[in-house]
Amino acid sequence: MSSPPAARGAGAILTIDLDAIAANYRTLRDRLDGAACAAVVKADAYGLGVEAVAPALHKAGCRRFFVALLDEAIVLRRCLPDAEIFVIIGLLPGTAPAFREHRLVPVLNDLGQIEEWRRGCADSGSLPAALHIDTGMNRLGLGPEDSARLIAEPERLAGIDLCCVMSHLIHAEAADDPLNQTQLARFAAIRDRLPAAPGSLANSSGVFLGPAFHLDLARPGAALYGVNPIPGAPNPMRNVVRLTARIVQLRDVDSPMTVGYGATHKVVNKGKIATISIGYADGYLRSTSGRGSCLVGGVRVPMVGRVSMDLITVDVSNVPSQNLEPGGFAEILGDDFGVDDLARESGTIGYEILTALGRRHHRRYVGA
Ligand SMILES: *Cc1c(COP(=O)(O)O)cnc(C)c1O
Repeated sequence: MSSPPAARGAGAILTIDLDAIAANYRTLRDRLDGAACAAVVKADAYGLGVEAVAPALHKAGCRRFFVALLDEAIVLRRCLPDAEIFVIIGLLPGTAPAFREHRLVPVLNDLGQIEEWRRGCADSGSLPAALHIDTGMNRLGLGPEDSARLIAEPERLAGIDLCCVMSHLIHAEAADDPLNQTQLARFAAIRDRLPAAPGSLANSSGVFLGPAFHLDLARPGAALYGVNPIPGAPNPMRNVVRLTARIVQLRDVDSPMTVGYGATHKVVNKGKIATISIGYADGYLRSTSGRGSCLVGGVRVPMVGRVSMDLITVDVSNVPSQNLEPGGFAEILGDDFGVDDLARESGTIGYEILTALGRRHHRRYVGA
């Protein structure tokens, strides 16, 4: 496997398949039977690069985008002049003018944010906003007391163009958790008593909970990028990322040698270690120490010893020597071993693997 010239100085090559992201968008949208499908592109499109990913999603037909922060929205506005952009964390004090300037839609999370937006609307005419109702996460959005006050005092919304009322599911990836139905019922009860507006509840996994959860607008993020929205069942999404890292050294080892920091790996039999240029500074989590794996010369091999900042060590004793060469590549992520698989070995979730993907990798976009 040879590397393109631009990648010669990089330790690892991250390939992001924009066609796969577009295909995943269409797969999700096609499950919605007419409800609209937004795309969540917060945290730099889950680490994959919003400036490449968002235009690819737009080309696939997506017109509504969610980010977490105002700063993310301003970057996104430069890529997508005509999309509808929602800011989940909403209207922090003093930010209303920036929302207006960049034509952004704040997600209003408490009565104070509602009041601030209403005052902003008073001098610029009716402006769109979304309203976030907390139906059990107890994290963001109007809690039961705020919701009750808003229902009792609907004039608090006067002048606001309420374009979406949303809530967020706590445990949508567990289809049989009764919390899903509880949240759906709580959300319906509150929406019924608020001014009519399109409803939005489903994240990626929520799309797979059935039509009752689709409402008017779904907000998938992770599934667009290949994370399995239905853990335990075959992944309906296409794989998006491939990550290969360079083999920088090969060495023969034998007992009683040890490998890596802390001498945590004790060599028992004569064998071979490959040193690979990826480490925790690249998002290969240190918690993967002693339990990771990767693909070398067509063989899945165990990572041994600790993950260090720039390097990992793998036991390649079982790889035929004609398949091993310094300067060759190990596959860390690919079609047969995706972000959810690495997450399992690292004790985390695919979301964190994606968002941790390093800025030091040579990045290549294919497709779109
Ligand atoms: C991140 C986020 C989403 C997307 O969730 P996924 O599980 O990645 O699909 C949807 N809605 C809100 C409010 C979010 O914060």
